[in-house]
Amino acid sequence: MTFMLHDTARREVVPFEPNEHVLMYTCGITPYDATHLGHAATFIAYDVLVRHLIDKGHTVRCVRNVTDVDDPLFAKARELGVHYLDLAAGQEARFERDMVALNALPVASSPRASSAIPDIRGFIGMVIDRGYAYEAGGSVYFDVSKFESFGSVSNYTHDEMIEFAKQRGGNVDDANKRNPLDFVLWHPSAPDEPSWDTLWGPGRPGWHIECSALALRELGTTIDLHGGGADLIFPHHECERAQSEAATGEPFVKHWMHTALISMDGEKMSKSLGNLVFVDALREIYDPRVIRLGIVEHHYRTEWEWDDELMPRNVDRLARWERNARSNPDLLDEVRARLDDDLDTPGVFAAIDDAAARGDGVLEASALLGVDLAPA
Ligand code: ZN
Repeated sequence: MTFMLHDTARREVVPFEPNEHVLMYTCGITPYDATHLGHAATFIAYDVLVRHLIDKGHTVRCVRNVTDVDDPLFAKARELGVHYLDLAAGQEARFERDMVALNALPVASSPRASSAIPDIRGFIGMVIDRGYAYEAGGSVYFDVSKFESFGSVSNYTHDEMIEFAKQRGGNVDDANKRNPLDFVLWHPSAPDEPSWDTLWGPGRPGWHIECSALALRELGTTIDLHGGGADLIFPHHECERAQSEAATGEPFVKHWMHTALISMDGEKMSKSLGNLVFVDALREIYDPRVIRLGIVEHHYRTEWEWDDELMPRNVDRLARWERNARSNPDLLDEVRARLDDDLDTPGVFAAIDDAAARGDGVLEASALLGVDLAPA
């Protein structure tokens, strides 16, 4: 069966037919705090994707970066009075423990932005050489007027892009910019921030360039699938694509997959609002498989709201599945068909729940979701 998967840029569910070896990049964490359920839901969604691709006979090289050169990390390190790389290393280790507990397959690499300064310098040089960037006031900006298809990942209008840029940290009023949507490739550092020398002055990279440089270094010019939370569509992914294609002249991404945000108390779960459920706190109470089930019972493109019944409901579900942890190859066809339909995990849950209710085995079907049952 053909694997159908939603593509953000094309705004529809389309066949996802990569070669045998799949090159994949997902934007990882900024390591300044513990992993919350919103992060976990994103990375578990890509883990379900990777498992499905492997089940279909692919091999997958998935790169998930660590954004350890970034404003919120510096701010938190400043607040705690620690070196930003020490803070990052501790939080990254915490994140990895959560991912292992949630039975996420290891990624091929988790490169740090701080490891990529030479790559970023070279990358910015390529963008400048090809005429897509300009220097002003000690910064280097990408010139969106030179890149005609800017906006074709998000499909946002010019006004929508301005609005999202304002909301998500883009300084649209920066007097050095020729166009308010131009974005920073390199800029001077604050006095207590790390700074690296370049031909166009000392400073540090902009956020978007870190992922473009790491994707090129680790995966090459064109990747099969790029992922991240839906809040990264604009400006982050729009800007990544523009600068990558400007630098290499090649298509950057064949398929864009984004995961819906999770809310709590009616607002998006976010560090800035503080309405968070932390994975390590849940792990103190629940079997990590229950947490994974609680995530995967939702479709990756459907926004959902945390509710206090989510974990108890999946404690019961895990117990029912475990009572039926016997082999049942017949269920696999149905589960695979559901996954081929844009990773329809709610459909998979319905099929497995029904089988368990009938007393049929669910062992292999559950494993396809990354939930390993102890054989009954
Ligand atoms: Zn990124």
